Amino acid sequence: MRYVIVGAGPAGVTAAETLRRVDPEGTITLVGDEPEPPYSRMAIPYLLNGRIGEEGTHLRKTADHFDRQAIEILHGRVSTVIPSDGAALLENGGSLSYDRLLVATGSQPLMPRVPGADLPGVHSCWTLADARRIAERAGAGRKIVLIGAGFIGSIILEALAIRGAALTVLEMGDRMVPRMMNEQAGNLIRQWCEARGVEVLVSTQVAEIQDRGNEKLRVVTSDGRSIEADLVISAVGVRPNVSFLDGTGVEIRTGVVVDGSLQSTVPGIFAAGDVAEGRDFSTGGYAVHAVQPTAADHARVAALNMAGLSAPYRGSLLMNVLDTLGLISASFGQWMGVEGGETVELLEPESYRYLCLQFDGDVLIGANSLGHTEHIGAVRGLIQGRTALGAWKQRLLRNPTRLMEAYVAQTKLYA
Ligand SMILES: Cc1cc2nc3c(=O)[nH]c(=O)nc-3n(C[C@H](O)[C@H](O)[C@H](O)COP(=O)(O)OP(=O)(O)OC[C@H]3O[C@@H](n4cnc5c(N)ncnc54)[C@H](O)[C@@H]3O)c2cc1C
Repeated sequence: MRYVIVGAGPAGVTAAETLRRVDPEGTITLVGDEPEPPYSRMAIPYLLNGRIGEEGTHLRKTADHFDRQAIEILHGRVSTVIPSDGAALLENGGSLSYDRLLVATGSQPLMPRVPGADLPGVHSCWTLADARRIAERAGAGRKIVLIGAGFIGSIILEALAIRGAALTVLEMGDRMVPRMMNEQAGNLIRQWCEARGVEVLVSTQVAEIQDRGNEKLRVVTSDGRSIEADLVISAVGVRPNVSFLDGTGVEIRTGVVVDGSLQSTVPGIFAAGDVAEGRDFSTGGYAVHAVQPTAADHARVAALNMAGLSAPYRGSLLMNVLDTLGLISASFGQWMGVEGGETVELLEPESYRYLCLQFDGDVLIGANSLGHTEHIGAVRGLIQGRTALGAWKQRLLRNPTRLMEAYVAQTKLYA
């Protein structure tokens, strides 16, 4: 069996290693277009805040790790796939034959569509190459404008603040992390950041970025404000890397649509990670969940199915945990609730603690939390187990902090 994996990020690497475990004989080629050893983007904030060096971002730590598993690593870019020939064509003219192909190409960052977005000094924060450029310009006292306070923007924010930069954050939504946090939680995160010297402008869009010369920039907002900057970082969203699949017949919506075995609509072509639009555990629908745990889960299941084993995918639970300048927030599943469901909130604004639980019948289906780290495991367990809470639902409605007790009681942990 010849396996070709396109993309050498966490999904690609996990898939390659899983394949090797279950198929000692097959040939495995992992093609990646970045000029680095396979690394984790998740580690970039720790590189920027100085807690690790570049090697700390590498997914595997020894130089011969892949050789020892007979996984061939190829630096190159796949430009076209021809399913009828079982061939992946490389940009440099080469070609790879496959029996099974895994698309693990991740996403690429979008830039704001405004004048000046292509100026030097305006960067995304997506790759190690981006991180190196940002590190050069993001020292203590430098002025940085961060466009976008979503999940990635809010993660980067912490690293930039720790470097001592003077930060202004622009967010077009009415609160921080609007796709992960409700109004109460998003506003508390904003207040937390502002109390630590970060300027956060919500309901604000960038209209233009101007070059002032001498590596100085000016960001003009939609409401006419001008903000001086040494560096502008864009974290406005991402788009799955799918263009090389044009003409293959692989169905693309937002990402590559995959079935319960992570196979695309073209037999023999599978997808995993940020590029894949797979089953959502909570809704039963399809979604791109661009987080690393989903990439690893997808990759393991895809690899088993590629090797001919039958491994069903239960769906990924949307779960984001964020550390914003020391404030830990988390968002799970259907955090915004469902029609006919019930909600309970516990708000302690002075201590930046907040808990909001969402129920459908007597099942916990989603949550937002700030500062309540002790509940993260119980919330996840209850949602993923679709645990019937019975009498515990009323107890949680009266006091949502009794989550761990509910979890232990209803999952009969110590029975
Ligand atoms: C700054 C930052 C912080 C993050 N923090 C977290 C976090 O705290 N928690 C979390 O869960 N997630 C986090 N993420 C998201 C996480 O990094 C992604 O979900 C994860 O990287 C997805 O893995 P992947 O393998 O699907 O894609 P990627 O890691 O993007 O890897 C895909 C690889 O494929 C390559 N590629 C693309 N097209 C081709 C082609 N045609 N040919 C060959 N190679 C190609 C790409 O260049 C890339 O190297 C963070 C992301 C960033 C940028």
